[in-house]
Amino acid sequence: MSRKSDHDVLIIGSGASGGMAAYTLTKLGLKCLMLDAGPPVDLDKSRVLRNVYDLPFRGFGEPGRFPHVTQASEFSANAWADERENPYTYDPGDPYYWVRVRMMGGKTLFWGRASWRLSDYEFKCKDHDGFGDNWPIQYSDLAPYYERVEPIFHVSGRKEGFPQLPDGNVTLDETKDSESVKRFEAACQRAGVPTTKQRRSQGTLASSLNLLLPDAIATGNLQIVSNAVVREITLDKNTGKAAGVHFVDRISKREYYVPVGKALYLGASCLETTRILLNSGIANSSGVLGHYLFDQFYVKGTVQAIVPEAKGGNAPRGLMGGGGYIVRFRNLKEKSKDFIRGYALDFGSGGTPGPHLLPTYGEAMWKQLADLRGSGFNMTTMGEVLPRKEHFVRINRNVKDAWGIPVLHIHQKYTDNEFAMAKDAANTMEELCKSAGFEVLTKHWQMVPPGESIHELGTCRMGNDPKTSVLNAHNQSHDVKNLFVTDGSCFVSGGAQNPTLTMLALTMRASEYLANQMRTQSL
Ligand SMILES: Cc1cc2nc3c(=O)[nH]c(=O)nc-3n(C[C@H](O)[C@H](O)[C@H](O)COP(=O)(O)OP(=O)(O)OC[C@H]3O[C@@H](n4cnc5c(N)ncnc54)[C@H](O)[C@@H]3O)c2cc1C
Repeated sequence: MSRKSDHDVLIIGSGASGGMAAYTLTKLGLKCLMLDAGPPVDLDKSRVLRNVYDLPFRGFGEPGRFPHVTQASEFSANAWADERENPYTYDPGDPYYWVRVRMMGGKTLFWGRASWRLSDYEFKCKDHDGFGDNWPIQYSDLAPYYERVEPIFHVSGRKEGFPQLPDGNVTLDETKDSESVKRFEAACQRAGVPTTKQRRSQGTLASSLNLLLPDAIATGNLQIVSNAVVREITLDKNTGKAAGVHFVDRISKREYYVPVGKALYLGASCLETTRILLNSGIANSSGVLGHYLFDQFYVKGTVQAIVPEAKGGNAPRGLMGGGGYIVRFRNLKEKSKDFIRGYALDFGSGGTPGPHLLPTYGEAMWKQLADLRGSGFNMTTMGEVLPRKEHFVRINRNVKDAWGIPVLHIHQKYTDNEFAMAKDAANTMEELCKSAGFEVLTKHWQMVPPGESIHELGTCRMGNDPKTSVLNAHNQSHDVKNLFVTDGSCFVSGGAQNPTLTMLALTMRASEYLANQMRTQSL
């Protein structure tokens, strides 16, 4: 590839952040070149389902490919980044489950599409309870961008007026709730616990691939290079700005260099972005690059309840089905004595509890399963994790990926605040289920390992002070003036809300800022 650029902006990554950067910048007339490590998606090839007996490992998958991707099966094996080609390390006692997708469109090809806004309880979290740091922006800075991103992603939901979960510019969801959901919501209301419908982007393939990239390509301003595994960014010695990017072709393993143009947009996903910056040795005069790694903890099936009237297959029409969302209610006005911040839950009505939850086996278990069929009421806790400097990623030079690039060593664990929160959620949900007249079959507060929620955040944080942050209030590097980062790595805190809508809104905002800077020759 030539050393002269005919593009204005080089974008790394084609997922939520890279896709939105391309969508916004190309519409503003800027010529963009996008590099992505993955191949283009071949939807026809990936559409064929095979029988389990046709698979070499009978559906269990090839050992070693996905030890940390609990979502992977042999049927979906080509969707996830192969861990033998893309290794990483962690301390033996503290496993991290890093789930990656290396394809055009990134993880948006498979995301659950839950799309919530953050509020000033997150942006101004330190003002609220004294812990951590505020973001350098507040809710009103991002609200106009949420307002424009939601229609692009066809988000539907309800408007409730909760200050801790701002309303969206959504298609109103007026579907009726089942009787069991109404009973549970009534119990929540009696206890002062707010609930709402799910807020979700509509359409199973609501992704960068079909909602962002086609519009960007249609402008004639976007060129995409797939299979380009970025290794390193180099700076211009005179200006200190990003000058070029070295990448390795995924298939041939040949090295290439491409000039940055006027600006570089890095959206390779939270930890890959930080890995590229650390491997390049740039944007880290603060020394905090790689630090403050956090995510959201998940407790799957924290309470498994039974709706008694539905037992024995006797559920009357309209009793079971559907679900909803418990909005954060802890530490808003009152202060919990055991923990700061809060949690939210998804709940769902219907389904049969798994046999592993039953205290029986053999004939008795089959009988119990038949009796409980379709009577389940289940919930998952999603809790805020505190960003701490001592949770970090660093480069492990002893281990390299299939392209010879040093990998990440990841160090994150949950602490007392998260454990206390998870326990509170389980106990509170048990009370609410009982109050709704449900039987509680099991409850627990065992979190999945860090990373498994697939909401990794932090390590390249925003902030006003270049001594304690990597990016400014417009997601521009304090050190490298033509470098922008808007994926999850820029988050200062994360609440309990799924983070992608916020990444999309931040990207639109930063891209418009960048275009403006280029128009006024300020870059
Ligand atoms: C099963 C699942 C369910 C989810 N559910 C939700 C949900 O309901 N709500 C929600 O908010 N979020 C959800 N998420 C998370 C969401 O998908 C991510 O937050 C979002 O996609 C992150 O966007 P991104 O641009 O940072 O990264 P990605 O979308 O992962 O895109 C990163 C891109 O960068 C490329 N790349 C990586 N490294 C390099 C490199 N070295 N060189 C060049 N390119 C590189 C990758 O190939 C990829 O295409 C879910 C994720 C999964 C997998």
